[in-house]
Amino acid sequence: MVEEARRLAVVERPVPEPGRGEVRVRVRYAGICGSDVHILHGRNPFVVYPRVIGREIVGLVESVGRDVPPQRVGERVAVDPEIACGSCYPCSIGRPNVCHRLQVLGVHPRRRLKRPPLRSRRQRSPGPPGIPDAAAATIEPREPLPEAQRRLGVDGGPTLVIDAVCHPAILEEALRVAAPAGRIGMLGFSSEPSAIPQQETTRKELSLFASRLNAGTFPQVIEWMKSGRLQPERIVSHRVPLAEVGRAFELTENDPRSSSKVLLDFGPQA
Ligand SMILES: [Zn+2]
Repeated sequence: MVEEARRLAVVERPVPEPGRGEVRVRVRYAGICGSDVHILHGRNPFVVYPRVIGREIVGLVESVGRDVPPQRVGERVAVDPEIACGSCYPCSIGRPNVCHRLQVLGVHPRRRLKRPPLRSRRQRSPGPPGIPDAAAATIEPREPLPEAQRRLGVDGGPTLVIDAVCHPAILEEALRVAAPAGRIGMLGFSSEPSAIPQQETTRKELSLFASRLNAGTFPQVIEWMKSGRLQPERIVSHRVPLAEVGRAFELTENDPRSSSKVLLDFGPQA
């Protein structure tokens, strides 16, 4: 829990009972992402403290509420942290990730680790421990982009650039390196403006698009993991016990060269 900005603590809290259509999940691993770091440092405008953080979660269903089949107890699930209203304009066109009344686990108030089992991974037999269920994340290059392009034989620039670093200066570089007719995806939440030269953008007829959270893509990502198209184990660099949560945040924030995705380990499950 972040008790207030820059004060992180491991605390005991009452165990919530799942309500109608909800399940309670015993957490196995929780990934730390940039949003958690922003919340810790008081840089997320949506957060009211104290806040139980964490939204990249995998675990076991240990209790179900009314209208949920009891057979779901014991099911391993990856938790989609978005809770959307289902009736506003973005929801009506299949984009609940930008719902007018969006609540995100670990960010917004009044929600605990309890949510409807809308999108989950059904896996009755125990799978490989931890890593295959880890939340996917993106990773920045270890080497300068032009060198990486040469090494990979990318001629004329990449046709798709995803800015997962999210520093305002990165967008300028993305415009510079992208191939003509290329696409540039933005994920950042910085309030600092980025310089976007119109000349370069128009000359190459680039397309810029923004992406937030996910729009019901958990099943697709799970399929990609199962088929080997996505290999999350390649980006999970550390598994840190919950009791050492401070060290986990330090790794994420201060040691980006060795840490790509740090998982908090909540211990074996019964
Ligand atoms: Zn909505």
